[in-house]
Amino acid sequence: MDTELKKKHIGLYVHIPFCHTKCTYCDFNTYTGIENLIEEFTTSICNEIEFWSLDNSYIVDSIFIGGGTPSYIDISELERIIQNIKSSFSISKSSEVTLEINPEDVTDKKAKSWKKIGINRCSIGIQSLNDDELKIINRRHSASKAIKSIEILKNHFSNISVDLIYGLPSQSIKTYQETLNNIIKINPSHISAYSLQVEKGTFLNEQVSRKEVIVANDDFSAEMYKITQKFLKDNDYKNYEISNWAKENQFSKHNLKYWKLEPYIGFGPGAHSYMENQRFSVIRSPKKYIHSIKKIYKEKKIKVKEKIKYLKENDFFDVYEEHNLKNEILEFLMLSLRLDQGIDTTKFKSKFDLNFEDLYKKKLEKYFCKNILEKNNKFYKLTEKGKLFANEVANNFVD
Ligand code: SF4
Repeated sequence: MDTELKKKHIGLYVHIPFCHTKCTYCDFNTYTGIENLIEEFTTSICNEIEFWSLDNSYIVDSIFIGGGTPSYIDISELERIIQNIKSSFSISKSSEVTLEINPEDVTDKKAKSWKKIGINRCSIGIQSLNDDELKIINRRHSASKAIKSIEILKNHFSNISVDLIYGLPSQSIKTYQETLNNIIKINPSHISAYSLQVEKGTFLNEQVSRKEVIVANDDFSAEMYKITQKFLKDNDYKNYEISNWAKENQFSKHNLKYWKLEPYIGFGPGAHSYMENQRFSVIRSPKKYIHSIKKIYKEKKIKVKEKIKYLKENDFFDVYEEHNLKNEILEFLMLSLRLDQGIDTTKFKSKFDLNFEDLYKKKLEKYFCKNILEKNNKFYKLTEKGKLFANEVANNFVD
């Protein structure tokens, strides 16, 4: 029997908080103009990884280097991070190792080096293939550079994911459809398409408040979502999660971990983790992060619980939550409903020792009548119509 199967599978996320410029809609924990910290930051990430080293009872089956813009930093820094992960954890032979990439950073030489250091999946932030739309949101690449970059990556990688955003300022159904048509021609293995969110504190929010730009309202976004669903289905992409489509089962192993409430550790400022039913995220400021790591990394704690306790006591966390039953159920339902397979009633029973159908009999009847939910063996899943109300449905269950 494969010994890997006996081990506890975990995912690792590495947050690289550097960007060349800030996109107008972005509320991620990323910074411009602090490139002078990159080298010291890499040392801190490596130290944090070492602090977290786990014994052989754990095995890493997905690594996601995101941000920020990891493709913006030197290959040598990425290589140091990957080497450290390899020496601190057991890594599965079939692990997925993803690098988030911005189109303007792609060259043939870099693509070759990314592959050489162990990257086997690329997630490229295209957002749109319309130059006017890209300019308004302050992306640094053009549509033609985006296409060229994917073509270069395809020479080296078979697993390429493309990120799109719909509901952008000045975007019409026609221009969005053109973006979809052109993306399909390049045939990526995976597509994520997200509805534009206007988040507080972003430049886009200011622009919208000042009425300088108009973004899609809920109805228009819903229409664009329906177009995406139909178009990608017609082109053989499976909508395995609300905002994600993939060909030939090339689902993102890493993202599935989040949606299935499986454990993962996040390294770097603001990175989130879920281990031993506890959720926590690292302090957000890169400078404070670098400073804090110097104090803690030499401490050798063996057990996961001890590590979390130590980090908590040493003010390393921005947010820490030990989940109560209601929160755990809400999270489980919210995440399960995002997946095409839906809510697994057997998993619900084993996780919470409760019978899903007995607990929510009346609510389930209501959702069936309204054609929001459907049943498939032991799974309850959203209908196409229901996918527009995923969070509302989950919230209603635990009210
Ligand atoms: S490149 Fe990505 S992380 Fe950086 S500012 Fe733009 S959206 Fe945010």
